Amino acid sequence: MNSPIDTSGESALDGSAAAGPFADVFAGDVSAAVVTCGGCRSSAVFAEQHAYLGAPGTVLRCPGCDHVLARLVQTPTEVWLDLSGSSSWRFPL
Ligand SMILES: [Zn+2]
Repeated sequence: MNSPIDTSGESALDGSAAAGPFADVFAGDVSAAVVTCGGCRSSAVFAEQHAYLGAPGTVLRCPGCDHVLARLVQTPTEVWLDLSGSSSWRFPL
């Protein structure tokens, strides 16, 4: 699936590499959250997704179909979060 986010020049990191910026927004650890892909509907924990840290910002991609699950960009004044590529996030209590 084509995506407007070009991460082709980067190699994927383990999803836990992106856990820090997301933890700031979600006010808690996201590593164990189960993210369901909006593209292929597969589910995996955050730490098993593919992370790209210079896309710019942080991009999380599905390891199965490479669909963009989430994008997070931080500026000096705000954080912009796009979760439109994922269909759900399930957090353990
Ligand atoms: Zn997928």
